[in-house]
Amino acid sequence: MNPEDLCPICGGELEETEVKEDIWLGEELLVIENVHAKVCDKCSEKIVSYDEMQRIDRVIREFNYRKMDLKRITAYVTSI
Ligand SMILES: [Zn+2]
Repeated sequence: MNPEDLCPICGGELEETEVKEDIWLGEELLVIENVHAKVCDKCSEKIVSYDEMQRIDRVIREFNYRKMDLKRITAYVTSI
């Protein structure tokens, strides 16, 4: 097996999948769907490639100018 397909934390198998990435920008939360990542089947460690990070950075920049269609979700905040 390709060592790149093994989890650097626990040695478990990484599976290519799509995840939601949640990014806090001050008091705003941006959720980016369909982020390509490799996720460990044992410890759930998530690995996002450098190229995908670049795509995310681009999305954040566009978000700052509100240049994209945005879906709204409801979030509740409390404290303990
Ligand atoms: Zn792992």
